[in-house]
Amino acid sequence: MRRHHVLAALAIAAVSLAGGTHTAFAADKVCKLEIAGNDAMQYDKKELYVAADCTQVELTLSHTGKLPAAAMGHNWVLVKTADVTAVANAGMSAGLANNYLTPGDAHVIASTKIIGGGQSTSVTFSTAKLTKGGDYTFMCTFPGHYVIMKGALKFG
Ligand code: ZN
Repeated sequence: MRRHHVLAALAIAAVSLAGGTHTAFAADKVCKLEIAGNDAMQYDKKELYVAADCTQVELTLSHTGKLPAAAMGHNWVLVKTADVTAVANAGMSAGLANNYLTPGDAHVIASTKIIGGGQSTSVTFSTAKLTKGGDYTFMCTFPGHYVIMKGALKFG
């Protein structure tokens, strides 16, 4: 009996959170971010913000340039700021076939594949991997790019 009461209470809470328009899992709030990279080795944003109530983040990366991935590829990789250099250096030797990331690198919180001019890609990840107020950096791990192509992601 006790278990039934708890489930009923959860169901009521979920319905009131959903507000009637949400078709996904009731408690999820998917927040969308967009960023673009260009042929001048630049992102168009230095900071990205994720509100405290977002449970999922869907980031879309667009490459607004014309150069191919092999020459001017870009990805979007989220790490703790303390891990930037280690992840970027390891990624450099992993090669384009691995999107310039060490396969299974536990320091990578989220990442897209490498794309070339005219392409776009996206990644969805859970904010359960983030700490509110934590120090996070996004970057491109194409060799040499992270020095310029990086910015701060703020959560909460
Ligand atoms: Zn790049």
